[in-house]
Amino acid sequence: MKLYADKIVFSSNNVKEKSSLVIESKVDSPQLQDIIFEKAIIYPALINTHDHLVGNWYPPAITEDKFVNSHIWVEAMKNHPTYLARNEYWKNDGSFILTKQKEITLCWLGVYKNIFSGVVAVQDHAPKQKPAYYQTFPVNVVEDFTQCHSLPLDNWWGGKSAEEEFEDAMGKMPFILHVGEGVDPLTAHEFTELKERGLLAKNTVMIHGICLSEKEIEEIAEVGATICWCPTSNENLIGKHLNIEYCLKQGVNVTLATDSTLSGGINLFAEMRFSKERFPRVTSVDIFKMVTCNAAQALMLPNQYGSLEKSTSELLILDEVIDNPFDNLIYAQTANIKLLLHDNKPILGDIDYFPLFSVDKQNYTTFKSGNREKFVIGDFRKHTDYINSFLTYHKKFPYLPE
Ligand SMILES: [Zn+2]
Repeated sequence: MKLYADKIVFSSNNVKEKSSLVIESKVDSPQLQDIIFEKAIIYPALINTHDHLVGNWYPPAITEDKFVNSHIWVEAMKNHPTYLARNEYWKNDGSFILTKQKEITLCWLGVYKNIFSGVVAVQDHAPKQKPAYYQTFPVNVVEDFTQCHSLPLDNWWGGKSAEEEFEDAMGKMPFILHVGEGVDPLTAHEFTELKERGLLAKNTVMIHGICLSEKEIEEIAEVGATICWCPTSNENLIGKHLNIEYCLKQGVNVTLATDSTLSGGINLFAEMRFSKERFPRVTSVDIFKMVTCNAAQALMLPNQYGSLEKSTSELLILDEVIDNPFDNLIYAQTANIKLLLHDNKPILGDIDYFPLFSVDKQNYTTFKSGNREKFVIGDFRKHTDYINSFLTYHKKFPYLPE
């Protein structure tokens, strides 16, 4: 199948106008013609390097008051109206076995939050689950990783010690943990402790890094490790941010991610917009890299992710609303997604393109976004109906269509 579009963003420094690309789809319709996408731009599909899929209740469990570190928030949140409202459906007993019915239903919401913002690969920061968990979802909930919650709280939610988890990764998969999510001496010491305990390597992915000093950022650049930036979450909880400009200047592998909606923004589209507006000196190209190639590098994903130069099985095709393709991505909304492909399979898109694929239509549902009829894989309403059956009211999640 050959796709034509006004622009194709193969990578941050390879954008071709009036171009085409070939996808090796196994689900082409036999009568398939080449597709010409009018007023459209083709991108590599997006990657969200930090989410807690089970934690996407809404609105965020935040207040006007900021916290000096997130560990205080983790406790304070338990009395917040949002957390208490979620308790009516599911009480978090700290066991984090996400394959149970109530838990996995919440995780499905998190997966849809990602799908509706063009994401085909997401890192679910939680203790490692059974393989069946990662195989349940229609997009890549990345299975190969090891993790620790954070050094001060250790693996309170399950998993081995930080050292054992780091060892298990053998440098071949990402080792992920929250680092420096605050402004007090406790969080300021975390990076030193990370080094002292031998946990800093190229495959270390440090989430947040708000209090990292310039010298520490230089050390991270030197090692080639990743910092995952979640500006909406940081603004909401701490009111302070990673020194992003210094990270970019030093060439740190920075990614941009949502975190869960208990602290973060609505989805990755919203996160990109927020980062651009709050940090105007961070360029749209930088932001594009953070959600594509930098993210693929951080999560050690195979070649098909993060750029279209080696493979075209992970595609995001958007309306061309803004001439600059990178600005166009940052200001996109769900309604602008013409087509999202994962592993060459249609995940989401305008209904007009649906007949082009010989997939089982039973596995999809339709919805309206703006004035356009769209299809999406699976049935997100089934999951919200299940949740609503435990509540005395109809719960709305702003990252899902009506
Ligand atoms: Zn987090």
